[in-house]
Amino acid sequence: MSATQSDAIESHLAALGFDNRFAAELPADPESSNFRRQVAKACYSCVEPTPVTRPKLIGWSPEAAALLDLPADPGDGKALAEIFAGNRLLAGMLPIATCYGGHQFGTWAGQLGDGRAINLGEIVNKRGERWTLQLKGAGPTPYSRTADGLAVLRSSLREFLCSEAMFHLGVPTTRALSLVLTGEEVMRDILYDGHPAPEPGAVVCRVAPSFTRFGHFEILAARHDVELLRQLLDFTIATDFPHLDHADPRTRYLDWFDEVTTRTADMIVHWMRVGFVHGVMNTDNMSVLGLTIDYGPYGWLEDYDSDWTPNTTDASTRRYRFGQQPAVAQWNLGQLGNAIYPLIGEAGPLNAVLNGFAKRYTEGARAMTAAKLGFERYIPEHDDALSEELFALLGAVETDMTLFFRKLAQVDPGDLEGEPLDEAYYQPAPLDATYRKRRAAWLAAYARRAQIDGRSDNDRRAQMNSVNPRFVLRNYLAQLAIDKAEAGDYSMIGELLTVLRDPYSEQSGREEFAARRPDWARHRPGCSMLSCSS
Ligand code: AMP
Ligand code: MG
Repeated sequence: MSATQSDAIESHLAALGFDNRFAAELPADPESSNFRRQVAKACYSCVEPTPVTRPKLIGWSPEAAALLDLPADPGDGKALAEIFAGNRLLAGMLPIATCYGGHQFGTWAGQLGDGRAINLGEIVNKRGERWTLQLKGAGPTPYSRTADGLAVLRSSLREFLCSEAMFHLGVPTTRALSLVLTGEEVMRDILYDGHPAPEPGAVVCRVAPSFTRFGHFEILAARHDVELLRQLLDFTIATDFPHLDHADPRTRYLDWFDEVTTRTADMIVHWMRVGFVHGVMNTDNMSVLGLTIDYGPYGWLEDYDSDWTPNTTDASTRRYRFGQQPAVAQWNLGQLGNAIYPLIGEAGPLNAVLNGFAKRYTEGARAMTAAKLGFERYIPEHDDALSEELFALLGAVETDMTLFFRKLAQVDPGDLEGEPLDEAYYQPAPLDATYRKRRAAWLAAYARRAQIDGRSDNDRRAQMNSVNPRFVLRNYLAQLAIDKAEAGDYSMIGELLTVLRDPYSEQSGREEFAARRPDWARHRPGCSMLSCSS
């Protein structure tokens, strides 16, 4: 990179305007040294990232950079690596770790907090938008409990790519600006089987309007700190929900809960649309902004199975399986409702909002199903049966969800053989006659329904292709990028980012990135099974 390029990046960085409202307006932990502890009567602790030896920038999202008025081209990445590994603080940054609690797998877990996340500060960009920068994996904080505060390359790469893939799919999500190797090793026991091994360490810089979770409220309620609970909620409304910052407090808090409920329901509809399984929907991993947050042992449905979860840590109860995500989201909202109850004093109105989740989700899911099938709207008398049989068919033989919907758009009405669909099946053997007959009956019903809808085939296809992605971050693709990166070849990170930037286009020449999971990936850790080790 030329001197002028690096000067340009330096001047962009120098121009970032910080306005750290969370730290300025909420109470800080008075203790300033960095040791593990319970932090009461405060929302955050000041803590500096731990410097690393050889930071190297291996991933950069031009679209996330644009949010911060940073350049699309990272140049040689040297200055950026220093900053987004946490080695160099810029003027105006104020690093903090925040305090939250949470229900993990249905059980109250007490204080959790940013154990390996450090907010660098809040940037107000040229358009007046506020974005919080957060490093994940930049060293221990008072909230690290028994862990090391670090993150490994494989999980960081997965978070970096998936955050941006989700954004381009139109799914509400936290964003990822950068992926930096630390040059240091981190010990992890991937399979939790007593074989810890060194892995490359990495840091992701995440970006979101705020990282406030359900658990931020839960911890204050659990500690009966109603005063701070009210302060945090007033702050959250003023900063993240300014349009609600008017009515009397009781209405305002209920309106806020209603909006969080709505946003959460809408986010889950998107997850179900694209076949995303979060894997760890603990209440500490739920954003009040309705953003997908904390990409850990997540996965994408390959063969359609509503009972599937990628998270091996959840294998016994499958609490966070694909089909259970709406119900879990509502349960989590129930915990948030409990947390703010002291500010409302009446359960009735909170329950009414909570019960509204089902309606919002059902309406959203119906509209989404109609859109996936290319219809203008959902007509229950036709579409209840049509969609029920469709999902039964998808589950009857191993069928790739993403490919099926994409290929369905290519089936001509009246073509009961549905040949374009062949590519979506995992079974190498020909489909049996009973299944083919059943599918033909469904295709006939679908064609009749499309006629009632009245759209032209072209319009229906265009509609389907705008909500049924061709490209998602298939579990095995992420793993291939990880295998290469661990061997020192970072090329696939940028390559995948490029493909995933435009997930609804055909992108001819890039068919390999749309292919169904190869057989080798069926049972390989990282591809179909992920532990929480990260
Ligand atoms: P997660 O299951 O990743 O959402 O994490 C749950 C809690 O554990 C959060 O408080 C995290 O900050 C914390 N945590 C997870 N991994 C680490 C780590 N390696 N070091 C410190 N804290 C961690
Ligand atoms: Mg988490």
